[in-house]
Amino acid sequence: MYPCIHINLDKIAENVRVMKDLTEKHHIEITGVTKVFGGEERIAQTLVNQGIKRLGDSRIENIRNYENLPCEKWLIRMPSISEAREVVQFCDVSVNSEFETLKALNQQAIQLKKKHKVILMVDLGDLREGYFKEEHLAEAINYAKQAKGLDLYGLGTNLTCFSFVQSDEEKMNRLLGLAKKYDASVCISGGNSATIHLMLENGIPEGINNLRLGESVLFGRERTNYEYLPGTSNDAFIMEAEIIESKEKPSMPIGKIGADSYGHVPVFTDRGIRKRAICALGRQDVDVETMWPVDEGVEIIGASSDHLIVDVTDCEKEFKTGDRICFRLGYFAVMRAFTSKYVEKIYEKQEIEKEKNESLYKVS
Ligand SMILES: *Cc1c(COP(=O)(O)O)cnc(C)c1O
Repeated sequence: MYPCIHINLDKIAENVRVMKDLTEKHHIEITGVTKVFGGEERIAQTLVNQGIKRLGDSRIENIRNYENLPCEKWLIRMPSISEAREVVQFCDVSVNSEFETLKALNQQAIQLKKKHKVILMVDLGDLREGYFKEEHLAEAINYAKQAKGLDLYGLGTNLTCFSFVQSDEEKMNRLLGLAKKYDASVCISGGNSATIHLMLENGIPEGINNLRLGESVLFGRERTNYEYLPGTSNDAFIMEAEIIESKEKPSMPIGKIGADSYGHVPVFTDRGIRKRAICALGRQDVDVETMWPVDEGVEIIGASSDHLIVDVTDCEKEFKTGDRICFRLGYFAVMRAFTSKYVEKIYEKQEIEKEKNESLYKVS
């Protein structure tokens, strides 16, 4: 069935190994972030098989997909007060920045006879989540320390997600300083894949002992210079889509051009008659801006919610209706593919063979 996404578990495993080696050299532990792949258990399992001991996601539904994996489970988006009970039930750790939410978590934890670990987020200038004023942070720390249902696990920060402010040594030292001052330093979580660059330059001070990594672990990519790291693969996720129309057409539309769905009037260049193909795939299934054709000479020229239009004029291969075209996927494209119920997921490579062998052993 098409479209389908091919997931190469071997390549993911290798990426995890590379990232794990790199972070271990800097005494940093990884929380593997699973939201890009909707918390699919097979992939989460691959991370755990490579020695990742903590997994995090922004949604409880995703975390529940790998409920049975032996690892610490983090909710890396602040909990909604309305889901406080589920947070305590299904997550070992959550990141927090609101007093009222902490109170709700504490109450549920007491009812469930559990201790829920909290990481308090500090906003160091990216202006997404986190305490901005130290007095408010101090108040939350004091509360978490004495609350019977809570366990103050540490501090964390998130950068390069909203304002794209980059992490630097000064910001890391600020986080570390606060963690030490308030004795909240079991786990100091210094950021996401955008902090890899600083780590490689030895810019992360000793004491920061955790990073929450999604993109770098899955695609081998750091986010400051957007470089692929040596030894990693950027093609662990491949989308395969079927051609449903293949025709020569002019590159210049005929008629008066109006605004598109985003309110912009598109501009076209006249390249003469071109050979185009339409794939049965669209914005509902994939993010067109973060996907790239595998075959040379194939060019994406546009997409609507369920049609992807490509130019195949300069391609060596003769594509016809019924043929398939493959695309390498980036972060948002994978995320959307895993969210779309129309995309079939196909797991490939050794991890699967290993499982098969193991089950064979069990039978005999
Ligand atoms: C998504 C997310 C991450 C992971 O980011 P990557 O850039 O994929 O490594 C880490 N922390 C938080 C709070 C997030 O929301």
